[in-house]
Amino acid sequence: MHAIKGLVKSAVPRGAYAALYSLFIRLRGLSSILYRGDAVECPFCGGRFTRFLAWGLKLPVIDEKRIIGAGFRENALCPRCRSFDRERLLYLYLRDQTRIFTASDKKIRLLHIAPEWHIQRVLSKRPGIDYTSADLSSPTAMVKLDVTAIQFADQSFDAVICNHVLEHIPDDRKAMSEIYRILKPGGFAILQVPIALALEKTVEDPSIDDPKKREELFGQDDHVRVYGKDYAERLRDVGFVVEAVNYAREIGDEAAKRYGLLRDETVFVGVRS
Ligand SMILES: [Zn+2]
Repeated sequence: MHAIKGLVKSAVPRGAYAALYSLFIRLRGLSSILYRGDAVECPFCGGRFTRFLAWGLKLPVIDEKRIIGAGFRENALCPRCRSFDRERLLYLYLRDQTRIFTASDKKIRLLHIAPEWHIQRVLSKRPGIDYTSADLSSPTAMVKLDVTAIQFADQSFDAVICNHVLEHIPDDRKAMSEIYRILKPGGFAILQVPIALALEKTVEDPSIDDPKKREELFGQDDHVRVYGKDYAERLRDVGFVVEAVNYAREIGDEAAKRYGLLRDETVFVGVRS
C-alpha cells in the first residue's frame, strides 16, 4: 500500500490523491463486507470471509510447467487487508514451526530481503526480533542492499527471509552464497521461489532479455529463469542443509483451505549447519 501511495502521490495533485485514497479505503471496506462469512480466515487481520479474492495472470507457461507460487490463483488476496496467499503461508510457518516468535533468551537478528508488507509489519513489531528490512530499490525497506554483494559481516544473522527474489537475479548462486555467509551457524533462511513441478531441471538463459520472451518462457517478464525440481540442489551446492516443508499439507486440507494456502507450495528452508 505504501508503494502504491507513493506512486499515486507523485502522479496526482494533493486533493485528488486524498480523494483516490479515500476511495481505495472505501472499496476495501466494501469488499470485506461483500465477502463476509466464515469459510476462510486471514491470520493477519483476523477477518473471516466466504472466500479470498482471485489474483494473478493466466499464462500458458504456468499451466504447462505447473509453476507453483505464480500466475492466477483463485484464493490469493484477503478481501480486507490484501494479504497474499504466500504471505499467509510464510507467517503461519514462521509462527508455528520456528522459534523466532517465541525465543526469549536473546533477540533473534533477522534480515528480511524484499520485504512483504504484512510480514514486515508483524515481524518489525515483535520485541524478541532485531529486525532489518532491505531492498535494492524499495523506499519502504530500512536499508539498501544488493543480494549478490551483501554489506553485512559473516555470521551476523540468525535468520534471513528472501522470498521470490532469486528468480530475478542473474547470478543467483552468488546471492545464495551471500545469504549463507551472513548466517550464523544454526541460522536459517527462508528462500521461496516459483517452482515448476513439471521440470526436472531449472530452465534459464541469460541471453534472453526481451520481457515478452521472458514471460513466455519463465512466467513473468522480469524473471531470468524458472526453477525446476533441482532447486534444492542449487541451495545445497552453496552449503545449505535444505529442509523442504510442505506446510499446507502438514496442517491438513481443511486448515490449508481455511487460510487460503496453496496446497503444493513447499517452504524451502536453508540451514547453515
Ligand atoms: Zn486480512
